Amino acid sequence: MPCKTNEELAELVEEAKKVTSEGKVADYIPELGKAEADDLSVAIYHVENSCMSAGDIEKTFTLQSISKVLTLALVLMDHGEPFVFSKVGMEPTGDPFNSIVKLETHEKQRPLNPMINAGALAVTNMIKGSTKEEKLLRYIDFIRKLTFNKKINICKNVAASEFETAWLNRSLCYFMKKDGIIEGDVEDLIDLYSNQCAIEMHSLDLAKIGAVFALDGKHPETEQQLIPKDIARICKTFMVTCGMYNASGEFAIKVGIPAKSGVSGGIMGIVPYQFGIGIFGPSLDEKGNSIAGIKLLHLLSEKYELSIF
Ligand code: GLN
Repeated sequence: MPCKTNEELAELVEEAKKVTSEGKVADYIPELGKAEADDLSVAIYHVENSCMSAGDIEKTFTLQSISKVLTLALVLMDHGEPFVFSKVGMEPTGDPFNSIVKLETHEKQRPLNPMINAGALAVTNMIKGSTKEEKLLRYIDFIRKLTFNKKINICKNVAASEFETAWLNRSLCYFMKKDGIIEGDVEDLIDLYSNQCAIEMHSLDLAKIGAVFALDGKHPETEQQLIPKDIARICKTFMVTCGMYNASGEFAIKVGIPAKSGVSGGIMGIVPYQFGIGIFGPSLDEKGNSIAGIKLLHLLSEKYELSIF
């Protein structure tokens, strides 16, 4: 464990909290706007099955963009690399996560990577199943396995709120449908994507998913290989190059661990072969990352020399 005690971790949480007021809770999905800006929680799950936590750990939050990396793992398991990467690229972008501009100019009109909305929608479109209900069930089942928590479910209010307001995501889908990147009914896809983003959990659940990635896809307790090693490696690489949106470069320099954030204020961090980190702090910076969450990861990385580089 990096910290010796929960109190040591709590001190870092208090320090990180000081920047909360410099950010703002996301409200473009109206239901997310109800979060309490100064909440901050962290859980660290060690691959040897011990954990520590601090802050408002009883609070739950939705995965939002963190789900993108988990969907990618699932569809790579469903279809293999050649098919998936025929529809989505591997390159980072300096544009915001919901940008539409590059779709027109990028080679073969493929979205640049699976961590921006366009790429994530294309990836969600590849989840196997004969109905959207079956696809969602497979997805939730996968998340329940990764968190070792059968109670994981969807926050229906957040899912509905996103579905009702996802005009830009609909535009991205129709653009990609024109080029054959996306197939099938766009409303069904937006519904599935809104539900995937609305999967709700605690920081500890998220830390446990991080621990699976830290062990190259292996469940720390049962040692079952939940994600093949090469797919876990691809996911972690995307987290380094694109996981923090268009702030990924600076984050790699300042913190230096694979991480994925979401506009709910969640961040999943991975310290390979050591632990997974789950953070929730809904006040966001201008790029859409948890402002206190990034500060906390910065403090942790500096103090305990966590950078992988
Ligand atoms: N559900 C969000 C959206 O598509 C996810 C984006 C995010 O977390 N950055 O707008």
